[in-house]
Amino acid sequence: MAIRQNHLAKIEMIRKNMRAAGLMRERFPKVSGIVIHMTYYQKMPGSVLMERTVNFYPSGYAYFNMRCMARGCENGGFDLSSVIRGLVKNGKKSAKGFLLCHGGEKGHASIAYRINISYRRKSMKSLSPAPACI
Ligand SMILES: [Zn+2]
Repeated sequence: MAIRQNHLAKIEMIRKNMRAAGLMRERFPKVSGIVIHMTYYQKMPGSVLMERTVNFYPSGYAYFNMRCMARGCENGGFDLSSVIRGLVKNGKKSAKGFLLCHGGEKGHASIAYRINISYRRKSMKSLSPAPACI
């Protein structure tokens, strides 16, 4: 029972953090989509735990704190928020990098990430169809 409550509390906290992060279209109005591809590694060099691709759309939350997949890691994770903020600020379309889990035993898990960002076209007005009848 305690475990279940713990789990629910954790989910509730993540939801709260997601709401606090705000919606993509509000935080990054120029962005039409973000794709994050991650390869998770366990402590041992070269041991791939899993690969995962996550898509972000304007209607979703701008929450980029990825859960750590290592067993028993409670408060860890990989926060890509600042990386993504920096990319959008500079109008960059892609980036690659490496992060260590920020929780638990140092270096117990890491990810290699690849981020692709698509932007809305600048001239939205010229793309909209002409009014049918004037
Ligand atoms: Zn971890």
